[in-house]
Amino acid sequence: MKDDQEHTILAVHVRGLDGMCAGCRAWWARLAPYPCWQVDWATSRQARASVARFLGGVR
Ligand SMILES: [Zn+2]
Repeated sequence: MKDDQEHTILAVHVRGLDGMCAGCRAWWARLAPYPCWQVDWATSRQARASVARFLGGVR
């Protein structure tokens, strides 16, 4: 299992002062409202991973 990517995304994609995603702006010079789709992806991955751990580590 490899969840480094989610942690990296969640660490970088944080809410900026103006409500935009700071990570998207820093990485791609792109304005995206926070939470951006990458944060959605990472949080849903983490939720699935913790459910899997709770159920006994199926994956
Ligand atoms: Zn982002």
